[in-house]
Amino acid sequence: MKSAAERFLDYIQYDTGSDRRSDTVPSTETQRVFAQYLAQELRSVGVEDARVDQYGYVYGSIPANCDQPLPVIGLIAHLDTVSEPANAGIKPRIIHNYNGEDVVLNQARNVVLRPADYPNLRQYKGHDLIVTDGTTILGGDDKAGAAAILSGVERALASGKPHGAFRIAFTPDEEIGRGTKYFDTAGFGADFAFTLDGGKLGDYQYENFNAAQVKAVIHGRMCHLGRGKSRGLVNSIQISIEFQSMLPVFQDPANTEGHEGFFHLDRFDGQVARTELLYRVNDHDWAKFQEKKDLMGEIAAFLNRKYGPGTVELTSEDLCRNMYDQLKDKLYLLERAKRAMRAVGAEPNPRPVRGFTDGAKLSYMGLPCPNLCMGSENAHSVYEFSSVQSLEGVSGMVYHLITDLSPMEAPPAPAPDR
Ligand SMILES: [Zn+2]
Repeated sequence: MKSAAERFLDYIQYDTGSDRRSDTVPSTETQRVFAQYLAQELRSVGVEDARVDQYGYVYGSIPANCDQPLPVIGLIAHLDTVSEPANAGIKPRIIHNYNGEDVVLNQARNVVLRPADYPNLRQYKGHDLIVTDGTTILGGDDKAGAAAILSGVERALASGKPHGAFRIAFTPDEEIGRGTKYFDTAGFGADFAFTLDGGKLGDYQYENFNAAQVKAVIHGRMCHLGRGKSRGLVNSIQISIEFQSMLPVFQDPANTEGHEGFFHLDRFDGQVARTELLYRVNDHDWAKFQEKKDLMGEIAAFLNRKYGPGTVELTSEDLCRNMYDQLKDKLYLLERAKRAMRAVGAEPNPRPVRGFTDGAKLSYMGLPCPNLCMGSENAHSVYEFSSVQSLEGVSGMVYHLITDLSPMEAPPAPAPDR
């Protein structure tokens, strides 16, 4: 049997960065190569029907080996990584029995992983810490999830213990928002599923942001600057600054946390005649999310009264909804995950996602899908880290999930703290 850490160190050698600019499916051919490898891995641990479909999704199933009435549960990880910071040529380093102090990742570039910057690091004292060389990501998002699923499945099947039916999927292009575009929920055939894509051992999530992209196009009028007054010069850059300054000052990503939503000015392309502002508007609460979008509409209307109709054109596109609205009556599904976490000595820790996951979209596609830990932290950064022990813990969680013979029923779920 291969440990989760062995598998993880193997998987991160595959360059699987997804590419937003590509129109192909999957967006990069390298993902298909890794998908084939994962299908082979699944077959090697006993998931006989593992296959890669035309879109680069890996599917496999484990039939039940007992007669107990059990739910069909899906386990999902994504096989792509971000492309920035660099994702190829990952050179992991294992620091055995980590002493809890600063870790120099790269002397030449002065890249240091400090507990002062990342307090969670202190919890890894005594672990065999896995870090980068300071020039690339580690790839734990989400190859830690894939490695844990493979090793957990291998251990469960090798144990000969009774278990219910399971479905496994690895999805491409999650990092560019296309991870569920071609997901075959009907063919998958699970009653519910878990993505393993969420931080340190014990973390779990059933809430994510409602998210919209809002574009404001502001029209001005350019003329000879010396005759600006008589010819009616209108500077769209100035009106853009006015637009931005009317948004609530502290509701931006730098000043919000937990359940606080925000307006994020993501791009500003301005010339006198025309300026384009691109915003991300996020909030866990549906009503507050709508209020945020309404406020932007009111600001646009005010500026149109002030500078003339059509000065500000606002368009908004909803990107994702909070899975909580789909999961709030089904939180009992998480009891199974929490039992599995406790079985490996981890205290379950609910944490709202300040972003979104594939599971959020799947939950709206008829497959309830909360998110569980994958055992890696500081994703999308050269400071990403994991540990042999946390990967082992997550694969143990998978093992306990598979061998949990509790029947599918809906005990009254206590209302969660929000
Ligand atoms: Zn991820």
